Amino acid sequence: MHEHFMILKRHNLKVTPKRLAILEILSTNQCLMTPEVVWKNLKVKMKKIGLPTVYRNLEELSKNGIISKVFHPDRKLYYYFCKSLQHHHHFVCLSCQRVEEINFCNIEEIQRSIEDKLNSKVLSHIIQLNGLCSNCLAKKSERSLKDL
Ligand SMILES: [Zn+2]
Ligand SMILES: [Zn+2]
Ligand SMILES: [Zn+2]
Repeated sequence: MHEHFMILKRHNLKVTPKRLAILEILSTNQCLMTPEVVWKNLKVKMKKIGLPTVYRNLEELSKNGIISKVFHPDRKLYYYFCKSLQHHHHFVCLSCQRVEEINFCNIEEIQRSIEDKLNSKVLSHIIQLNGLCSNCLAKKSERSLKDL
């Protein structure tokens, strides 16, 4: 909780119980969350909180770079609280939305060849790996074994 207090302070954002609760929910769940899921979790403690308030706060936190908006093949809006502060990428489980942060990047070679080919300069990149996590993969193979 104290850590989230400091994060908000550092970004010159007003520390409110709602913002702290949102950060708490996002950081304790290592998975992508839609505003609706965050809202459902919040309502356990804050019965009167409305979905538009959750939308607005998530957007503010994301604009300040405190949480990330994550692209997903299902085209829904997802947010995620990154634990890693350095350059990293995400492995996203398409079944349970679990995220693994990957602190490993070897795109330099591709970057160089694209720069040569296009005679341009690459400044940044976004890489996301989508798949099935080990848990979901195990469940899946159990099921397909039963089907036999
Ligand atoms: Zn991340
Ligand atoms: Zn999974
Ligand atoms: Zn990278």
